[in-house]
Amino acid sequence: MKKKSRKLTICATARRQFLIGASTIAVTACVDPRVLYAQEKRTRIILLGTKGGPTLTTRTGRSNASTLLLINDVPYVVDCGYGVSRQLINSGVSLDRLRYIFITHDHSDHDLEYGALLYNSWTTRQSPRVDAYGPIGLRRMTRNFFNYMKFDIDTRIVDEGIGDPRRQVTVHEFNRSGLVMQNQDVKVTSLRVRHPPITQSYAYRFDAKDRAVVISGDTAYAPELARFAKGADVLIHEAMYLPALEKLIQQNPAAKRLREHLLVSHTSTEDVGRIAAQAGVKTLVLTHFVPGDDASITDEQWIEGVRKNFAGSIVVGKDLMEI
Ligand SMILES: [Zn+2]
Ligand SMILES: [Zn+2]
Repeated sequence: MKKKSRKLTICATARRQFLIGASTIAVTACVDPRVLYAQEKRTRIILLGTKGGPTLTTRTGRSNASTLLLINDVPYVVDCGYGVSRQLINSGVSLDRLRYIFITHDHSDHDLEYGALLYNSWTTRQSPRVDAYGPIGLRRMTRNFFNYMKFDIDTRIVDEGIGDPRRQVTVHEFNRSGLVMQNQDVKVTSLRVRHPPITQSYAYRFDAKDRAVVISGDTAYAPELARFAKGADVLIHEAMYLPALEKLIQQNPAAKRLREHLLVSHTSTEDVGRIAAQAGVKTLVLTHFVPGDDASITDEQWIEGVRKNFAGSIVVGKDLMEI
């Protein structure tokens, strides 16, 4: 016999939660799963380091590359440029909470503090279990770091009665685009991007329940990245400001070779705008600024080229900024 009550219309993802009360309520609107997800912690993005390139500088106040996602309050650290441990603490995440690390590629501005971050989390005595993901070579790098610190680690294990950090980390390598990991909170996929001479350089996409976030890593203009980022809420993309590079060349003819390298392996602000427009993202966040140590470049200058091609929201990233 048909029920007299109005038809219950709910989204599939929200269905289970409403079945309990289905006999007593009539829901006519499609329930946004984001409302339900609000019971959990919303996905947060915090830029830990926004400078491109390996040099250290205090002029722009930018640390080397790293981005933090907090998904259901669990940290996902993408890249470990120098200073990442300190910046995590500065962002309010204590190192005993370290859980997931993702490396985009083997350039020092992205992985110089990878091993040290593992080490620093070990010294918290909580010995968190860490899963580290990255292109082929990450396992060797992890092993080499622990060998580099072997004397100290072996000494402390005996003297301080603490666990072995070499057992706390599990490395997951890959050498092609695809699914990287998935758990109840997020699905992470990778896309191989264009960063010669490095062939194993990747972008990551995090599809959480409430937000989809794409991080470009280091790449030249890559239309496939726009497809990869299709429909994402936030695209965090590296940015290169060409007029400043020309200034560099004029000051130093030897910079010509550096300029050539930068042009084939990074993305101009105009092209970042193109990618964001093609992807149709809501918010574009600029990061990994090249040059990253020129304090004279204003936010307006970083935005200018992007705006020619992208009409959405543009954020000029700053260290410890939350998006
Ligand atoms: Zn870089
Ligand atoms: Zn690079």
